[in-house]
Amino acid sequence: MIVSSAFSGKRYAILGLARSGMAVLESLHASGAELLAWDNREELRESVADKARIADPLESDLTGFEAIVVSPGVPLNSHPIAQKAAASGVPIIGDIELFAQARSALPPHRVVGITGTNGKSTTTALVHHILERSGLPAVMGGNIGLPILSQKPMAEDGVYVLELSSYQIDLTRSLDCDVALLLNISPDHLDRYSGFDAYAASKARLFDMLGSNHHAIFASADEKTQLALHGLRDLGRVENIVDTSSVAIAGQSDWPSLQGPHNLQNAIAAIATVEALGISEDQWRPALESFQGLSHRMERIAESNGVLFVNDSKATNPASTGPALGAYPKIHWIVGGLPKSDDLIECEPFYKNVVSAYTIGEAGPLFGKLLADHMPVISCEMMLTAVQR
Ligand code: ADP
Repeated sequence: MIVSSAFSGKRYAILGLARSGMAVLESLHASGAELLAWDNREELRESVADKARIADPLESDLTGFEAIVVSPGVPLNSHPIAQKAAASGVPIIGDIELFAQARSALPPHRVVGITGTNGKSTTTALVHHILERSGLPAVMGGNIGLPILSQKPMAEDGVYVLELSSYQIDLTRSLDCDVALLLNISPDHLDRYSGFDAYAASKARLFDMLGSNHHAIFASADEKTQLALHGLRDLGRVENIVDTSSVAIAGQSDWPSLQGPHNLQNAIAAIATVEALGISEDQWRPALESFQGLSHRMERIAESNGVLFVNDSKATNPASTGPALGAYPKIHWIVGGLPKSDDLIECEPFYKNVVSAYTIGEAGPLFGKLLADHMPVISCEMMLTAVQR
């Protein structure tokens, strides 16, 4: 667990006691802070009663508190905690900000921060894998499901590789990454922002915190990523800015877990990231070959009678699904779930690779209508039916 004397004797309110909230509570408690904690779920509140005063911060006097630490799942645009914090003059932060504040007490280390709409977990795991294979101590944390404060602090010269969602960046004020990487931006999570511009601006804040001699990497040619890149270049503050969106690197056919144009984007961005940390081509090339990928992301599940079965169920929006269709020829495509938009524009360029679509879930009828002019569509409703068909 990461602890810091910087938190000792200070008062914090913690709102949300799921995975990262629990890690915050444990770390602050072990650091000697005084805590008030709350979650809507009673069993979670009860489980921390020996370490914190249990009270709803909305109904508590927060005068003199150092910060309110909220879970990234709390929607700041609609939750009353934002108003309460403003009225009390107490900042709202998240676990990544606490990590940033604890850094000065850690042995010398470097931090990589990875954000973007799609590909964050894959690229985070890939960067971590390349570093480890190259003999550099590395720890993964953040949105990838490993709260950073519960990770074991590294001895000297390690690299913390953080996957950062826009919600986490919203709750962070002082994380100066050694390498900050923005993969891509497409419309997503718009229920949490006033619009697409606000969502994009949230991601770009990662670079506002970047020290002038550190590295900024932008991986996509999409409009919002390029806007963030040009915004940073125009400021002239950060010296090392790399645009990998038009970089070509050969060898993808040797990287079985990194198929598809999207994974080429991830791989090229990961290469730029590790090169900024001093890793050379003869170190990263074998690591790309041995990368195993993550579950549910372009995961090769089985091969039978010449058919490869791929689980890409983490592709939850058209921008992540399209390039997955670009990875293979002759695809039988099980598609559906909850619709994130009324169209599938980002998938269209890849329809030529699809033999048949099998629609499931709530989005089934809508997607069926959108696809019917382009390919045979079999309405299945249920996953089981789709698999049988
Ligand atoms: P995130 O952590 O950002 O949700 P993941 O690495 O978990 O991203 O991948 C989620 C899905 O997005 C995968 O199923 C994959 O098909 C797709 N994907 C991965 N990388 C990219 C990318 N660079 N651009 C678009 N889609 C991607």
